[in-house]
Amino acid sequence: MRLALLPQQRTLRHQRQNQYSTGVLNKKTTLVREYDFRRNGQNQYRYCTPAILPIVKSKVSPYQMNMSAQKDIADPEVISDFCELTPRKKYILDKNARKYVRFMGMQSGFEHLLCYCGITGKELVRHTERKSDRVGLPKRHLARAKVKRSRLVLHHNHPQSMSLSAIDVQHLLARRGMVEIFAHGHDGSWYWAESLRKRNALDMAKYGDIAIVDAVSILAANHIFFDERLAPHFVNRALDRVGAIVYKFQLSTSILASLGQISEARQEWLLDFISDAIRQERQ
Ligand SMILES: [Zn+2]
Repeated sequence: MRLALLPQQRTLRHQRQNQYSTGVLNKKTTLVREYDFRRNGQNQYRYCTPAILPIVKSKVSPYQMNMSAQKDIADPEVISDFCELTPRKKYILDKNARKYVRFMGMQSGFEHLLCYCGITGKELVRHTERKSDRVGLPKRHLARAKVKRSRLVLHHNHPQSMSLSAIDVQHLLARRGMVEIFAHGHDGSWYWAESLRKRNALDMAKYGDIAIVDAVSILAANHIFFDERLAPHFVNRALDRVGAIVYKFQLSTSILASLGQISEARQEWLLDFISDAIRQERQ
């Protein structure tokens, strides 16, 4: 026997059904809402922007999404000199941005970016060029990235799980409004660089990029195997050493395994080689 609903209950259920049917309130919308960390429910319909639709349509549960985004490695806890947010707020923003770009990247195979303001914490843009090897700020936001008073923090995913590429670092250093850039590997690794806003940092990054090619060809000439996935990682470490950027990272087990094939002494040699090349070029 079915129990009759009280009138009040009936209206509640009716309202809820209506909300379900308009798509405002269903499981998948809640999932999307997780990502909308700064809109504070301004407009519920806004959750279904084109960038979000793949999530809405996907069959992945919030639990699975959370697991795939959080697998293996802890979220980055980094703070830069120019970012004006509290460490707690920044940690949450970075965690959610990481979740978003990794989830979108793993779903589509493309690079996705999310950029927010390091003063207010407001999100600036989410974007993809539907390419597996690059993504850049859309043109309409470039002007802001070039203004020195901006404090932009950019997150993007790397399907190959490599470190920040030469182009990533050079964009960070060339645009005076950018303060931090994150690359999140699909294998759980993350890489972070902070711009110290030094005038010659961009040149240093370019020299470093040339030096690694020389270093790798010396290794190859001596029949020493070098996993090229590690090349940008060494350049970034050298750039940190010479004071062009601050570089922090968390490597995945697979990257650590290929790093383990290079002896400590050889790693030191590589770092010295690149750092020396950068210092010499500067003079
Ligand atoms: Zn990149």
